[in-house]
Parts: sequence; C-alpha cells; structure tokens
Amino acid sequence: MTKVSKFPFRLAQGYRDFLVGRMPTERERYRELATRRQSPNVMVIGCCDSRVSPEVIFDAHPGELFVVRNIANLVPPFTSDGTCHGVFAALEFAVQVLGVHHIVVLGHARCGGIRAYAEHGPPLSPADSIHKWMSLIAPAAELAGAPGGEDYLTRLEQASIGMSLENLLSFPYVAAAAEQGALQLHGAYFDVATGQLSVRDLDGYREIGTQPENECGCDALGERPS
Ligand SMILES: [Zn+2]
Repeated sequence: MTKVSKFPFRLAQGYRDFLVGRMPTERERYRELATRRQSPNVMVIGCCDSRVSPEVIFDAHPGELFVVRNIANLVPPFTSDGTCHGVFAALEFAVQVLGVHHIVVLGHARCGGIRAYAEHGPPLSPADSIHKWMSLIAPAAELAGAPGGEDYLTRLEQASIGMSLENLLSFPYVAAAAEQGALQLHGAYFDVATGQLSVRDLDGYREIGTQPENECGCDALGERPS
C-alpha cells in the first residue's frame, strides 16, 4: 500500500448505525459466539451480486449462516487434481469441519454473470477469468432449453442452480453425508425486483409465502446444539 486511503464514509456511517442499532440486541450472542467455535446449521452458496445478500434475505443473525459467494453462485464439479479453489475449501470446511446440515444454492433473477454468458457480452472475453468461470454453466445451458424468449434467462439461472446441486454431489464427502441423511441440499431463487423467494422441489420452483412453514420438521436456520 503506497498511501493511506480514506475509509468510505458510507461504511463508517453504517458501522456507527450498527453500534447503536443492532449491536446492543446482538451483544450477548457475539459474546457467547466468541467463547466457542461457530456452529452454523446452514451453508449458503450465493452470488457476489450486491443486491442478493443471504444474511439480509434470510434475516440471519451472527453465527447462523456459513456463506460463500462467487459470480453466479456456481459450484464447479469435483476434481482430485490438486486444484486450489475457494469454493472447494469452503465446502470442505462447512461439511467436514462444521458439519452443516443444509446447503442452499441461492440463485437470483437478473444475474449479470448468467446474462453475460447468454448474450456472449461484456464482461466476458476469452482471456478473462470471468469468461472461464462462466463457461462452467455450459451443461446448464443445455438443460435450459432453446435460447430466446422472455423467460430464457430465468430458465438458465434456474438450470444453473440445478447444475450446481448436481456438482455438489460429485464431492465424495457431500454425497456420503447426503446418503446418510446428515446433509440436505436445496436450491432457491430470489427475484430481485419483487423480493420473492422460491425454493426448488421436484416440480420446479415454489414460492415461499408469508405464512410460517416448517416443512423439513426442523429449525433449519439457526445453530446446531453445541
Ligand atoms: Zn448473480
């Protein structure tokens, strides 16, 4: 670093708001979390998109979500060739160390990465990392149906979630935990314009309404008993 940078005012102001707003209500939780290791029950694999924050969407408290974010919320397929990858490391830690019970691949509408892939447009150029990264969704593009039509991007975004769920099962420790019933995989899709969240099931995507539901019979969001 060659010179002192001025910390963004918006962030400093936001932190001050946090100190007088949320921090007092979370103080005990932070204090208690500091005395032991984290034990989140849920891992979320989300997009870097600034509009799609898992902690905001799920109204999560500190210690509840283990989150990894990347362009277009992708999970590459497992390889054993020694590739060093942030998603792989986070996944290993979540499943093998933390023992999360749920992994949610959280996709969203109007995803810039998906759109760039579909339209072969900026910021994709063959020399860039983002081009190589987005080429991972080629198998999803085959499942999304013919390009074109108003719903094509939605189909591609949702097919990409399905592809990442399939790729999760290519990791031996994920497949083993899922087979034993210790781990459940979920797909979810957030509509940025409306705030509507839909979850993936056998028939497609089902909107979550405002009425409480507890379909898996457990308190999925929250911490595991330590
Ligand atoms: Zn996105």
